[in-house]
Amino acid sequence: MKIIDGKKIAEDIRTEIAKEVRKMIDAGQRVPHLAAVLVGDDPASQTYVANKERACKEVGFISSVYRYPETMREKDLLDVVEFLNNDEEVDGFIVQLPLPKHLSPEKIIRAIKPEKDVDGFHPVNIGNMVLNLPGFISATPYGILQMIKHAGIETEGKHCVVAGRSNIVGTPVSILLSRNNKDANCTVTLCHSKTKDLKAMCASADILIVAMGKMEFIKADMVKEGAVVIDVGMHRIEDAGTKSGFRLKGDVAFDEVSKKCSMITPVPGGVGPMTIVGLLMNTMKAAKKEVYE
Ligand code: NAP
Repeated sequence: MKIIDGKKIAEDIRTEIAKEVRKMIDAGQRVPHLAAVLVGDDPASQTYVANKERACKEVGFISSVYRYPETMREKDLLDVVEFLNNDEEVDGFIVQLPLPKHLSPEKIIRAIKPEKDVDGFHPVNIGNMVLNLPGFISATPYGILQMIKHAGIETEGKHCVVAGRSNIVGTPVSILLSRNNKDANCTVTLCHSKTKDLKAMCASADILIVAMGKMEFIKADMVKEGAVVIDVGMHRIEDAGTKSGFRLKGDVAFDEVSKKCSMITPVPGGVGPMTIVGLLMNTMKAAKKEVYE
């Protein structure tokens, strides 16, 4: 059994991005600039935005964060989006989700220019993904694709089962893995809470991707011998013995499943680090105008 080391793959990709930034500086070009808009003080969102800032700094990007109180009006947030849409110094930006309840994420995301939507949530970018056209692919699915490519996982002719159909993970991953692409060319089954006999479905997968948000739900008897298992789940559990006071667990019961599969991603150190890399890659593409003119 081989562990798919997302932390190492992410590090290697960040090193390549940093080299590209250096080349841009040497050529007298402006370095990529990623902005984030954070409304309210959700602790997970604060951590995520702080991690993005750190990753930007590490590769040499400019990063800026626009912070607003929980009570921000929708009109004011739309004005901020419009400002960033028109700011030529900003290559791409994200509006961190979830937003406070009184703000409509659909309305805000639709207001972002697709060419600056490095989170890949705008309907234009989702449409391009479905049609296999150039566009921004959202960070976690993009990170998973990179991981599959870098780990040398064979996809052609394989049966991939995706457990979970959220708009941000399961659904895009299922589409991306089913396209006619060099590194992602599977036959895909997308499962959810209404799937009959999830266990049999999962056990038929050559590649099993789990994004259910249910801690250690996938057990060894749900996995085929020799399968590749990618665990997107992320759960914090209290642990006084650690410096942070918590530990992370995934949607897969790692100890038992790892004995049965050929490759598996750990939690932490699997899909998590790849997500931010996906965002950095999109921002680089936006800065180079590789996706949209
Ligand atoms: P989500 O929006 O909660 O969706 C969960 C999906 O799992 C739904 O489609 C749901 O089916 C399905 N599901 C739940 N219980 C099920 C069951 N017993 N049997 C079959 N299907 C079931 O989740 P998400 O936002 O995709 O996140 C999933 C996990 O990934 C979470 O732990 C999250 O923290 C983690 N995550 C990690 C990263 C990262 O960077 N590593 C990024 C994003 C998310 P229905 O549609 O029928 O309800």
